[in-house]
Formats: sequence, C-alpha cells, structure tokens
Amino acid sequence: MSVGGSATTLAARKRYKWVVTIDLHAHSNASDGTHPPAEVVARASAAGVRVLALTDHDTVAGWEEAAAALPEGMRLVPGMELSCQYGGRSLHMLGYLFDPADTALSAEMTRVSSARVDRAEATVERLRELGAAVTMDLVREFAGDGEIGRPHLADALLAVGAVTDREEAFSARWLAPAGRAHVVRYATHPVRAVQLINSAGGVAVIAHPRALGKRGYAFDDELIEELAAAGLAGIEVDHPDHAEPDRVRLRSLARALDLAVTGSSDDHGDRTGNRLGCESTTEENLQRLLGQATVDLRIA
Ligand code: AMP
Ligand code: ZN
Ligand code: FE
Ligand code: FE
Repeated sequence: MSVGGSATTLAARKRYKWVVTIDLHAHSNASDGTHPPAEVVARASAAGVRVLALTDHDTVAGWEEAAAALPEGMRLVPGMELSCQYGGRSLHMLGYLFDPADTALSAEMTRVSSARVDRAEATVERLRELGAAVTMDLVREFAGDGEIGRPHLADALLAVGAVTDREEAFSARWLAPAGRAHVVRYATHPVRAVQLINSAGGVAVIAHPRALGKRGYAFDDELIEELAAAGLAGIEVDHPDHAEPDRVRLRSLARALDLAVTGSSDDHGDRTGNRLGCESTTEENLQRLLGQATVDLRIA
C-alpha cells in the first residue's frame, strides 16, 4: 500500500471544491456494510474515489482484501470505527494507520467484538419475548463472518415479518437506544480509545459528532475539547448526517483546537445506498493525518 504524495496544485484546489476525492469512512461486510472489501474498493474507484479508508466497526478483517483489490492509482488508508460509550450513549471513534498487531488495542477490539456477540444473543432473547420469531442462527446468516451488529438484527426482524422496513426495526418499538429490545453492551471510553489508537501508532478522528436526526447522536464541544487534550487528531465534519450549521460550528472548533477536518461517506453499501465519495477530505487534511501516524504500514 502506498499512502502520501500529492499531485494537485494550489491553483487547481482553488478552482474546485476538491480535486481528488478522499473518502475516509466506509464499511464492508467485515462489519455491517453489504459488500465484500474488494467490491467496496471497486465501487469507490468507480465513484472517482482516489483515497479510501476502510473503517469497519471494531475489526481490521477487511484490510488485506481491500489492499489486494486496489486498482492502479488508488490508495488505501487502513482504519476502523471503534465502538465507544460516553454518558450512556454510543460514540464512534475512527482509528487510522495503527499497528493491527498492537497488543493493547487488539485486546480492546476483541473485548468490544465479543460484547457484540453477547449483546446480539441477549437481544434475540428479548425480541423473542416480545413476540418476534427471530433466532441467533438467522442473525448469524445475515452477519456472515463479519462483526455482528444491530443492522443484522434488523435484517432478521424484517425476514420474519416482525417489521415492514428497517426504519421500524430501529424505532423505539425494537432496536433504538431507548427501545424495548435495546440491550446495553460494553464499549470503550472515548478518551481510552484515543490513547489506545495513538499508542498503536495511529491517529484518532471522532466520527460524525453531530449526527442528530433519527440516531440522536450528538456530542458537545466540551467532550471534543477533552478528547483533543487526550490526543485526538481530527473531527469528521463533512458527513451525510451533518447539517450545514453543525459543519460550520465543527469546522471552527477544529480550527480552534488545531485538529484536522475530514469528510467521508460512511457508506454501508445497500444499507445506505451507494454513496461512496459523496463527501471528501482535502489533500491537506489527509496529509496532516498521515503525518501524525507513527507506524509505517505496508500491507500491499
Ligand atoms: P451497533 O454498532 O451494532 O449498535 O449498530 C450501529 C449501526 O447501526 C450504525 O453504525 C449504523 O450502521 C446502524 N444504525 C444505527 N441507527 C440506525 C437507524 N436509525 N437506521 C438505520 N441504521 C442505523
Ligand atoms: Zn455501521
Ligand atoms: Fe458510525
Ligand atoms: Fe460508520
């Protein structure tokens, strides 16, 4: 894998919003995306993405396949989206360019990953008590070899006819955070997430901190300041779930805290609709992140 280098000129950058599409957040079926890593790479390439980060939830399982599938001229930034919890709410921390063999970080990922399995089992029990005829086998069929998550529970609810669409599966009737079938699982404290990712030679970027709307996912400036003090490298500002006023606010917060700003699609294949490359990070911000990583990762 080769990362780094820029062919764009300042003049070109001024003419276009972005010159090279750099998408730093995408999922494959190593977690809850619908396409294998090689297909995510192919679809990203077709969408004009020249730098792609594969960021499956709590796993690096897709890295090798993605790297092997890179077409000429496309670069991969290996990453993941670590499940965190803060104030009883889930928070997502993107980690990039860390050493996947780092003992402390990989132990934490294993802990989070096994909590996913426990949570899925407990949720299936709860769903059955609520009258939905789902089984763990069915949920596993949807998850395949990937990290098991609520989207796969939603698939199962849909398959048994307990709901008519995934929106309903994620409603308070079923899987929403305050929903009837919601089960709390272990997830990492975000300060610890930043420290673990940094200790493993990587860089940490808080994912979609103002994704309000249906997910009710929003974290305030104070938390981001605390994370910055702990070594956070950037804020995912341009995200499909972010409204313009929140982007403006986050951009100025990033400037004040001297953090990088990223833009990404958070594509989940058919689950989100193919939106690879719908947002982009600037080359300058990419270089900032690459410059802060302390391990030299060559996986292709
Ligand atoms: P989990 O990490 O297993 O709790 O599942 C979280 C994932 O579920 C997120 O990363 C999204 O991909 C998906 N998700 C969360 N809320 C919704 C929603 N309201 N509608 C559709 N997908 C959702
Ligand atoms: Zn997801
Ligand atoms: Fe996320
Ligand atoms: Fe994501």
